[in-house]
Amino acid sequence: MTDLSALREQLAAQGVHTLLAQFTDLHGVAKGKYVPLHQLGELLKSGAGFAGPSIWGTDLPRTGARAEYYARGDQRRITVMPWQPGYARVICDGFVAGQPFDACPRQVLRRATARLAERGWTLKTGIEPEFFLLRREAGRFVPVDDHDRLDKPSYDLKSLPRQASFLHELRGVLEAWGLTVLQIDHEDAHGQYELNFAFDEALASADHLMGFKLAAQALAEARGMVFSMMPKPFANQPGSGLHFHVSLWDAAGACLFQTDEADEDLSLLGRQFAAGVLAHAPALCALAAPTVNSYKRLVVGESLSGTSWAPAYIAHGPNNRSALLRTLPGRFEWRVPDASANPYLATAALIAAGLDGIDRQLALPPVCTDDLFQLDLPALRARGIGLLPQSLGEAVDALEADPVVCQALGETLSRAFVRLKRAEWITYARHVSDWELQRYAAAF
Ligand code: GLU
Ligand code: MG
Ligand code: MG
Repeated sequence: MTDLSALREQLAAQGVHTLLAQFTDLHGVAKGKYVPLHQLGELLKSGAGFAGPSIWGTDLPRTGARAEYYARGDQRRITVMPWQPGYARVICDGFVAGQPFDACPRQVLRRATARLAERGWTLKTGIEPEFFLLRREAGRFVPVDDHDRLDKPSYDLKSLPRQASFLHELRGVLEAWGLTVLQIDHEDAHGQYELNFAFDEALASADHLMGFKLAAQALAEARGMVFSMMPKPFANQPGSGLHFHVSLWDAAGACLFQTDEADEDLSLLGRQFAAGVLAHAPALCALAAPTVNSYKRLVVGESLSGTSWAPAYIAHGPNNRSALLRTLPGRFEWRVPDASANPYLATAALIAAGLDGIDRQLALPPVCTDDLFQLDLPALRARGIGLLPQSLGEAVDALEADPVVCQALGETLSRAFVRLKRAEWITYARHVSDWELQRYAAAF
């Protein structure tokens, strides 16, 4: 019996009759189609065909051989979908005309990890999704639970049990996939939760995050709720981050960021990598915080009102949650990404920035041990601490001006990303909101 027919029989024995061929578009949204199990061989060999120009960011033509986008299954990533009996998800890579498609986000990350592999290195990430559970009320989205109207619902033990069945089922799905779930809590905002699973190789972590989103959406919908990865749904409540815990490992399984040096969290290599992340912070923002709404979370001075833990300043510090990089022994937490980030692109950009830091042997700026949210702008300026872009427009400009990050994304994807995100920004910038009308209409 071939491996393929053994695999097919194994899936059939689990009751699987249909595969979900799933890939991720430029916006970090899962896309796909159903493929009957008997087509497994074709899915793994050639892939399922999609109309290329219908997928965000591909810039494929409407006609000819290059009009077809093939999502080719990764045999190591076939997982049953316990919430949808009979179905198994197959994570796919994009192929066009028989070649890996350069603008497929998963291929972009594969290219980035291959650059590390050339040096014998593996990047591991622990991605921490924060999310809201919402419901629709009279055409509006409201938190599913703000019954108690607490000022600060962090770690609240009245609302957490109200969602215990959803959270437990979600955890069960992840554990069925072999993930280790570490912690689940109620976060800082009404209806906001966080579920963490163990760190893993960068590609696996991005895949796990996409699986987590797919499962959470389905399980929430089945309960009449809306699962939301919007970065900042409510102005006066904290937003949802997607922090990345980052470390680099060698082939022997040693952590290359670990150090014995007193007073240092990171080895010299780790410090250089982190310095690269800070040096490219404005361009990385475009990938890590890719929506108009992202910049309502990364607002300078925001935390003075105590409503956020999201960074706005280009700085690092030991266990410093007010800095962009919070260092910990042998790793750092990159706190910029929000829940709308495409995990493949954000990770690929991070790798490019880190490698640039290593190749140019960049030094970290002075360590920040104080609460940056307490400093005013002149004090930050005096200490040479830069600000993150304060709008999607600024972030896209920074990306366009950063050849290191653009090169990591590849020509097609970086061009498409800049074009689509700039259009998103301009559409928003031209929009006249109700807030403006109320404030200015009769004011002058
Ligand atoms: N919700 C915060 C953010 O937007 C992070 C809170 C935390 O540190 O867990 O990044
Ligand atoms: Mg959190
Ligand atoms: Mg965190």
